[in-house]
Amino acid sequence: MLDADFFRRWMTVTAASVEREAEHLTALDSPIGDADHGSNLQRGFTAVAATLEKEAPDTPGAVLTLAGRQLISTVGGASGPLYGTLLRRTGKALGDAGEVSEEQLAEALRAGVEAVMTLGGAAPGDKTMIDTLVPAVDALGTGFAAARTAAEQGALATTPLQARKGRASYLGERSIGHQDPGATSAALLIAALAEAAGE
Ligand code: ADP
Ligand code: MG
Ligand code: MG
Repeated sequence: MLDADFFRRWMTVTAASVEREAEHLTALDSPIGDADHGSNLQRGFTAVAATLEKEAPDTPGAVLTLAGRQLISTVGGASGPLYGTLLRRTGKALGDAGEVSEEQLAEALRAGVEAVMTLGGAAPGDKTMIDTLVPAVDALGTGFAAARTAAEQGALATTPLQARKGRASYLGERSIGHQDPGATSAALLIAALAEAAGE
């Protein structure tokens, strides 16, 4: 079973890897965006880690809803409301249980990803974070390590795609040949999940 500590660990490991990869994420956002994805997420997840430490929410659902709210209020870019919605909706789906199973997490995360698709209007193949999150959630039934592998493959698979949502879509065909920054950060989020689980 996964308790509030597990979910706090997921968020702090994500904050650390976003910090480590911030320059890379911003570099990916230069040719097909506005070169701020790393700094956007760094600001957001630093705030998430600080708030979780201060408020110490004691259920999985409360950890994720608080984290999502922080992202929405601290990140100005498109990714703030999108990741914020992902975590808030996932947290809401977990309810107020003190511990949840891996199956419940997989189900809740699916609800979260669907909320991101509703909010942003992106489908798989549009060259966004959805191209990472959908295969990751599909693989999560098999385990955290499988989800991490699926997420990494999903992010890499955005390179040949033409962007149909977000800033990169303004470039039309010129968006082809670049890995999507949001799909790349989504793979960090899923890898952090596996790391939090000790895998
Ligand atoms: P901004 O584009 O506002 O500067 P960021 O650079 O922080 O925001 O985030 C860009 C990332 O957000 C993209 O690489 C893409 O993965 C994701 N994104 C943008 N628009 C959408 C959308 N409508 N649906 C899903 N993801 C999106
Ligand atoms: Mg940007
Ligand atoms: Mg921006």
